[in-house]
Amino acid sequence: MTFAELGLNPALLATLADSGYTLPTPVQAQAIPAAIAGRDLITCAQTGSGKTAAFMLPALHRLSLQERPATVTPKAAGRQGGRPPPRGREQQRWQPARPRMLVLTPTRELALQVTAASEKYARRLHLVRAVAILGGMPYPKQLELLARNPEILVATPGRLIDHMSSGRIDFAQLQMLVLDEADRMLDMGFIDDIERIVEATPASRQTMLFSATLDGTVGAMAQRITHNALCIEVDAPSSRHGNIEQRMHFVDDLAHKNRLLDHLLRDASIDQALVFTATRRDADSVSDRLNIAGLNAAALHGDMHQGARNRTLAAMRRGQVRILVATDVAARGLDVPTITHVFNYDLPKAAEDYVHRIGRTGRAGRSGLAVSLVHHAEQFNVRRIERFTRQSIPVEVVAGHEPTRRPLAAKPRADGRPWQAADKRNAGAPAGHGDRRPGKPPAHGRDGLPRTDRRDSPNGKHGGGTAGLRASARGR
Ligand code: ADP
Ligand code: MG
Repeated sequence: MTFAELGLNPALLATLADSGYTLPTPVQAQAIPAAIAGRDLITCAQTGSGKTAAFMLPALHRLSLQERPATVTPKAAGRQGGRPPPRGREQQRWQPARPRMLVLTPTRELALQVTAASEKYARRLHLVRAVAILGGMPYPKQLELLARNPEILVATPGRLIDHMSSGRIDFAQLQMLVLDEADRMLDMGFIDDIERIVEATPASRQTMLFSATLDGTVGAMAQRITHNALCIEVDAPSSRHGNIEQRMHFVDDLAHKNRLLDHLLRDASIDQALVFTATRRDADSVSDRLNIAGLNAAALHGDMHQGARNRTLAAMRRGQVRILVATDVAARGLDVPTITHVFNYDLPKAAEDYVHRIGRTGRAGRSGLAVSLVHHAEQFNVRRIERFTRQSIPVEVVAGHEPTRRPLAAKPRADGRPWQAADKRNAGAPAGHGDRRPGKPPAHGRDGLPRTDRRDSPNGKHGGGTAGLRASARGR
């Protein structure tokens, strides 16, 4: 199956050829013809399977068949500045944006990435304008973008609602609604915002929903907001990332973890690496430490201003940063094809997030390596991940950086009795670890275990409760 056979117009085909896309991915092969025909989609596919193009190409194809809408004159719009629409004579000149397509994404980074992808794919169409509306961006700038009356809006839900409330956006002409990473948006507490946005769009719209899972609330919402949708399930979210090799290392304590990370990051086969930490504070401190150690690193997390977040990610994409140390703000959707390695400095809280984190490498058919640094006390967490992915993560030991605690291999006990249950589970792992020193109690506290305070939300400034996530996602 070729892109031409999917029915895309010649200008798009030429752009795809320029981009080196020779064949559609499986999800694209299924989604594109159906979406061109105007069908709703509910899609569940593996990370890195090319979902952006799966909705953007048919959408651009459809938009290119239509006349371009009129632009609000920048002069009239610019005069409004950040103020609400004025009354009287001036009101005649002020027009809300009337997008034809809306893409909702959970994070600002993802919104910018989707906007960039749509610009790339639309290059030869000279017709279509896309803008990103997100929290953390100055209002006057956003009003200026809206005043261009873009055909495509890419937005995070909170900020979009703000602009809808002030009458800056009119969805009367909306034809296509895309929910990217829908499950993530619901996890972040955006359900009411999404319902409100969907409510404001015409019932005649085409809806395309992408989600890593269709369980529970997200499945119910998918059914509710789509009509006679084509269900595309290319690979279950827990399915194996065949092109991503996984490993884990046991660490004794924080110092051991840091030493091992430094050592692993010096591997010459690393093009670029993403290191995940549980907290924003650790993202900063690990990145600082790596820089001091002479490894080119930068941090990315929700305590940073959006400008700094954008600059850091841009530097990563340009290859100016080799190691990005991030919280889960970077776990979803981020596409930097040159990331060869993902490190879990801390394990994620949810097994599902593990799949998304490691999916930041091995993009578009490349191969990647995902390495987790695991404290002995976190083994239950590893089991949960292994159960979820139905894959076991092989344990590796680096000579000179061996853990000193209990052996992982089933070495017979001196007294001939079997090891306890927790020990048995490690049978089969590589041998050669030293025994736990007699009389030394297992370490507690900050022994390389992630602190649970101030875990980062994928978008905002406040960890913790849903209310915090929502408030911060609105960028207030
Ligand atoms: P997903 O949203 O499914 O995680 P993306 O849409 O971000 O994945 O795409 C992952 C990468 O694959 C991007 O770098 C994109 O440019 C690339 N890509 C998408 N479709 C194709 C294709 N048909 N051929 C080659 N590369 C592709
Ligand atoms: Mg995506």
